[in-house]
Amino acid sequence: MTQAIAPQPGIMTIDPYVGGTSHVAGIENAVKLSSNENPLGPSDKAVEAFRRAAHQLHRYPSTDHAALRAALAQVHGVDAERVICGSGSDEIIAFLCQAYAGPGTEVVHTVHGFGMYSISAKAAGATPVEVLEADRVTDIDALLAACNKKTRLVFIANPNNPTGTMISDAEIARLADGLPKQALLVLDGAYADYVEGYDGGASLVDSRQNVVMTRTFSKLYGLGGLRIGWGYGPAHVIDVLNRIRGPFNVSQAALDTAEAAVRDVAYADHCRSENARCRTILAEGLAALGVPSDVSHANFVLARFGSADEANACDAWLQSQGLIVRKVAGYKLPAALRVTVGDESACRRVVHAVRQFKEGKSA
Ligand SMILES: *Cc1c(COP(=O)(O)O)cnc(C)c1O
Repeated sequence: MTQAIAPQPGIMTIDPYVGGTSHVAGIENAVKLSSNENPLGPSDKAVEAFRRAAHQLHRYPSTDHAALRAALAQVHGVDAERVICGSGSDEIIAFLCQAYAGPGTEVVHTVHGFGMYSISAKAAGATPVEVLEADRVTDIDALLAACNKKTRLVFIANPNNPTGTMISDAEIARLADGLPKQALLVLDGAYADYVEGYDGGASLVDSRQNVVMTRTFSKLYGLGGLRIGWGYGPAHVIDVLNRIRGPFNVSQAALDTAEAAVRDVAYADHCRSENARCRTILAEGLAALGVPSDVSHANFVLARFGSADEANACDAWLQSQGLIVRKVAGYKLPAALRVTVGDESACRRVVHAVRQFKEGKSA
């Protein structure tokens, strides 16, 4: 009677997450621009910390993550007592859904929003609710209109992925202040590190009881392979999340490496400015070829084509040239391609290949 063995409601409605492609058959050394990874890699100091951690692999990790939380507090000016570390910020997103959503409740996110919001909502048995954006920009009024008695969580990423667009703290404050009492606003700051002088919403967290921020080491800090992220919230939320967090959810190697990475402020600054410089080369180069994009505040550009067919044809041509970008039809943007900002040579290669495509050399 295997039919009697069934998962919790909602789980079979999950479409598994599809990551960025990393290989093209028959092409060696393809440039991967499909997962928003840092083309410069992590700080040397982080790599050194990772090497040192190899000598302690027989030891269980710290359970309270105190050293990394203290470093985050110092560098980002947050309160260490209200920081929680996770196996990527994906794990913090999952904790939030597990803790606050469930059958009969709703989790609101934007239409071109990160896929993990609806996956984690469904995994918790909740119903994801998709809200339209205004020309690829998070629409506060539409989000507020979608909230009701069942709403428990509202997720927005700022800057957003895959659009690269950003909204102001004043707009976010208006959203937080207009939410129903039982709803928590989650600010996903995966790309906040790319925005000069932006705190990712930390001050909104500090001034309210209904705002949580998630951050990651996977993007600017170049540690996607290590799986480490963090969350920052009001004390009552962090207390709840810590109750469901496994004691050893993050390895000591990840904790030590992330601490060295966040303390290497000079390298983070270098990566941020290199990203901005190369992003301009990429975005302006594409725009000159008739491929526009919204001003991006992140480490990728959402390149818009005339149709889904054109985007797909360009994607195929780029692959044949050893350039792997991200199709975003799954994010309801079938006529666009998301291109991670690579190093300068990668950005110039993309522009060159798109020029060939536009001039019909791909035919
Ligand atoms: C990459 C990304 C994350 C980060 O995920 P990790 O689990 O920390 O690697 C979170 N949110 C968005 C919108 C992202 O693009």
